Amino acid sequence: MLSQHTIDIVKSTVPVLEVHGVAITTTFYRNLFEAHPELLNIFNHANQEKGRQQNALANTVYAAAVHIDNLAAIIPAVKQIGQKHVSLGIKPEHYPIVGQHLLGAIKEVLGDAATDEIINAWAEAYGVIADAFIGIEEDMYVAAENQEGGWRFFKDFIITDKVKESDNITSFYFKPADGGALPSYEPGQYITVRVNIPGEQYLMNRQYSLSKASNLDAFRISVKKEDESNPEGKVSVHLHKQMNIGDKVEISAPAGEFTLNKEETAPVTFISGGVGITPMMSMLETVANNQPERSVSFICSTRKKNLHPFEQDIRSLIDSLENGVYKSLYSEEGDGYITKEIIKEYSHKDGDVYVCGPVSFMETMINHLLELGFAKNHIHYEFFGPALNLNLTEI
Ligand code: FAD
Repeated sequence: MLSQHTIDIVKSTVPVLEVHGVAITTTFYRNLFEAHPELLNIFNHANQEKGRQQNALANTVYAAAVHIDNLAAIIPAVKQIGQKHVSLGIKPEHYPIVGQHLLGAIKEVLGDAATDEIINAWAEAYGVIADAFIGIEEDMYVAAENQEGGWRFFKDFIITDKVKESDNITSFYFKPADGGALPSYEPGQYITVRVNIPGEQYLMNRQYSLSKASNLDAFRISVKKEDESNPEGKVSVHLHKQMNIGDKVEISAPAGEFTLNKEETAPVTFISGGVGITPMMSMLETVANNQPERSVSFICSTRKKNLHPFEQDIRSLIDSLENGVYKSLYSEEGDGYITKEIIKEYSHKDGDVYVCGPVSFMETMINHLLELGFAKNHIHYEFFGPALNLNLTEI
């Protein structure tokens, strides 16, 4: 428990964090990696370069300061971040290292304004927050390990199939290298794939959504080759070009909270942009297998027809439902984007909606949904990168 004095001091730093939060977290990551380069085996380097990780951490620190008198308010966020941490193999011993460099960065950026009183209050608060993370993550590790076919941290898998789904998306099927069982997972969950790319100094970790319903045969991920960007994507290009059937990768147990509510019977709508379609495939197949009577609406947007994966699979899954609708748009081939009117025409307003795609896509779609009167707590979304604050319409 934090004393009222500590709470008051941490709260007094909220305006400063609002202004200097990203400067603090940028300094923090720079110093952290200078002192502990081995942590570069865990962190996503591209997210660092693009500043997304710094923004995400600044948002978390800010939220922690705002809610320091009621940390229960940030437990959902802690759980979501905890899922990512567990998927990356973050351990309790990482927390004191992070704490030391976070406090150091606060001092470095704020200078004399960071009095001993402020630093001591933040040190105490960090200890409480870190304990919350460690506790929640240990529970997640135990659950992942104790399930049938489960494990902790990373495990070797073999690529058992590689299937081209569109001109830029290829699926990879994985089975445990030890021939052991696979755990089941929730539709919408992801795994982390860890690869050792020749010429790279550090291991590379990337999350990929499982793109098939849970089954005991194999994990499937579907990866977009990021070769149109500059620099081109390290892991996706490596997987596409270098990794083949029989090759080994390390994988962490399925994680994530962007999951289909399988108990729900109300209609469900899936809206995706580009490769954001992958978790939707797992969810759609799960509904088709278990609740064919449930009303489903599947709306997806791709730039061009040749980039659109799973067309036939979606059609046959939708056809197997009693009440399924499917709307696919090719934005660069005359269809334009998914509009509010299209969502209104094809979606089911009463049920859950799952949205996944680029950040600006999700922002636009969620604002359309809110304006159409969808309940905020029925709208679920997944970032294919560190979570950012979306600019959402206040209804
Ligand atoms: P990276 O090397 O990470 O580069 C990514 C981008 O950053 C590129 O555009 C690159 O140009 C840019 N960049 C890199 N370095 C710099 C620099 N120095 N300066 C400026 N820009 C730079 N992806 C899928 O394809 N399928 C999925 O199902 C999927 N599911 C995901 C689920 C989750 C929960 C998350 C978090 C992500 C998911 N992703 C998915 C995204 C995936 O994890 C990777 O981010 C993606 O494959 C790109 O990784 P990469 O190594 O190829 O590219």
